[in-house]
Amino acid sequence: RIVYVNGDYVPEEEAKISIFDRGFLMADGVYEVTTVLGGRLIDFAGHMARLKRSLDALDMEAPAGEDELLQIHRDLVTRNEVDDGLIYLQVTRGNPGDRDFAYPAPGTARPTLVVFTQSKPGLADNPAARAGWKVISIPDLRWGRRDIKTVQLLYPSMGKMMAKKAGADDAWMVEDGFVTEGTSNNAYIVRDGRIITRHLSQEILHGITRAAVLRLAREAQMEVEERPFTIEEAQAADEAFVTSASAFVMPVVEIDGVRLGDGTPGPVARRLRDIYLDESLKTAI
Ligand code: PLP
Repeated sequence: RIVYVNGDYVPEEEAKISIFDRGFLMADGVYEVTTVLGGRLIDFAGHMARLKRSLDALDMEAPAGEDELLQIHRDLVTRNEVDDGLIYLQVTRGNPGDRDFAYPAPGTARPTLVVFTQSKPGLADNPAARAGWKVISIPDLRWGRRDIKTVQLLYPSMGKMMAKKAGADDAWMVEDGFVTEGTSNNAYIVRDGRIITRHLSQEILHGITRAAVLRLAREAQMEVEERPFTIEEAQAADEAFVTSASAFVMPVVEIDGVRLGDGTPGPVARRLRDIYLDESLKTAI
């Protein structure tokens, strides 16, 4: 696989980053994951807009303009012959030459830009979407700026492992009695045809898929309510699902061992998945 590192396209085994890079030492970096379907990028502009918000929130310099980033994404898709898959982009504050809590003075460290692809043949035809996910609930022990897409993913990783150990597919995180989101996705329930998902704030990541799915739902005359919900309300709901760039709309069929409805993916989640995939393919670049 060919990867991109700071201006160069190199075989992955030749890619090098400094041990002093603040991304490595302090998780001082942000990332984006853009999905590729049929060799084309889904919602690239949305991911670049969020990247800019993340960089601005951390006073981090942009490593390249949007046109250049698009070219890098396209070059990697071509070079690695990606049909369906993901493109991971990471920007870190770079290598100031020594370890220090203070950010490097302007001009003393250039941001590090790494981009690589992950092929996932048949990504849109995921058998898991036909079965639906089981989730468990865990306390949300992450930091308070979850709206910034940083690379500090240790707690979400631990959450994923707790889910696996419990025989589930993912964990929904709970804070002050309310669900924040999944380890790497936004969480929704459906009651009487109405879609309920937590409102945007610093407590959750502002999902690019969330924005698209809510827009499409409203365009399809479905009712949307943006407010927090509890695990108990979710267990009593008609349906549940999650959204993310790589999972699209993924039905949830069980929460902490309680089956929702008849334990199969619900009609609203299935419809939204179809609408979202359809629209994504139409607007991909
Ligand atoms: N919430 C968290 C914590 C995430 O890590 C992600 C994606 O990685 C999402 C939500 C979904 O965001 P998006 O739809 O932009 O992929």
